[in-house]
Amino acid sequence: MSNQAAVNRADFDQVMVPNYSPSKVIPVRGVGSRLWDQEGREFIDFAGGIAVNCLGHCHPALVNALTEQGNKLWHLSNVYTNEPAIRLAQKLVDATFADKVYFANSGAEANEAALKLARRWALDKFGAHKDQIISFTKSFHGRTFFTVTVGGQPAYSDGFGPKPGAIEHVAYNDLSALAAVMSDKTCAVMIEPLQGEGGVISPDVEFIKGVRDLCDQHNALLVFDEVQTGFGRTGSLYAYEQLGVTPDILASAKSLGGGFPIGAMLTTAAIAEHLKVGTHGSTYGGNPLACAVAEAVFDVVNTPAVLDGVKQREQLFKQHLADINSNYSVFKDIRGQGMLLGAELSDAYTGRARDFLNAATDAGVFVLMAGPNVIRFTPSLVIPEQDIAEGMQRFAKAVASLVG
Ligand SMILES: *Cc1c(COP(=O)(O)O)cnc(C)c1O
Repeated sequence: MSNQAAVNRADFDQVMVPNYSPSKVIPVRGVGSRLWDQEGREFIDFAGGIAVNCLGHCHPALVNALTEQGNKLWHLSNVYTNEPAIRLAQKLVDATFADKVYFANSGAEANEAALKLARRWALDKFGAHKDQIISFTKSFHGRTFFTVTVGGQPAYSDGFGPKPGAIEHVAYNDLSALAAVMSDKTCAVMIEPLQGEGGVISPDVEFIKGVRDLCDQHNALLVFDEVQTGFGRTGSLYAYEQLGVTPDILASAKSLGGGFPIGAMLTTAAIAEHLKVGTHGSTYGGNPLACAVAEAVFDVVNTPAVLDGVKQREQLFKQHLADINSNYSVFKDIRGQGMLLGAELSDAYTGRARDFLNAATDAGVFVLMAGPNVIRFTPSLVIPEQDIAEGMQRFAKAVASLVG
């Protein structure tokens, strides 16, 4: 410890590539849904590491799994398998539609595997003409060049040279627009079963069922990107369970590791068999340390107590936000599901989500944005009621400071 130099936020700009613009506070410690910065100031965490810290900070079951595995075995590579990976895969298979699991290290990598598998499946079964991938405007699927191009925000994929081809975008919740571009050339439709980054937008039930039907009509695979919605976030282990629509491939990450980097792609046996030996891989994917932590997350999250608790907390959050709105009239919509909620700013505050986020930080609570007009809340699934109340008091103060 003695050789650790003191560092501060200004040092960040000196030594880091400028692709991020982090908050001026540097948190150094966290317990549950509270964090402390370098100066010892306390913050309530409604951001949850962008929907990652599903059990808050330093949850005892996760710390225990990490230290236990950390004293046993960290890494092997996929030249060898390991016990935590097999156990975690078994649990995921038992709890979902899937028969098979591929492990990665992030959401982007889980989606990358899903897209490559879909393309390989279509090539093997139908031929090279079946290569079209369709996704939705404003969608977010990660930052590898394939996933960012499939994502529906061209600003993120422009400026890097030629993009992967045969990718189309249509508007979310517009079934006829999707029907118009689909054909027997369609290989896969990739969709978030609730758009997160795009503004916390739920799918209409008719729409999402229609997407499934269109995929069936055209022999196309339905890929659910549940990187943000998955692992209890919306009140079921995966969001697809509540929609009554089952995908062919599902990508999971974020909450899956509770803060330890891991991603997973889940699919059926018939589709999985197209990812033959050597077709895809990762040095770290399925790493024993990551899988041991994710297994502990699974054991806590996949219980009625936690999943039902998410629904209760959703009501609490929505009530608090409605109360704030009745005092200050800053939101035109409060929406989302479970612990993935959005408050869209009313017209008088258009484009000012960042100001609300900064004011919240000053008032001692972390929140997120989902685009320039939506404040997003993705706290721990087990955030205590008194932290919700205290955090909302602070958030109300932030709102008051902007309304002036
Ligand atoms: C965060 C996110 C990703 C990307 O995950 P990374 O771990 O950052 O690669 C992909 N899809 C969705 C829906 C996400 O929310």
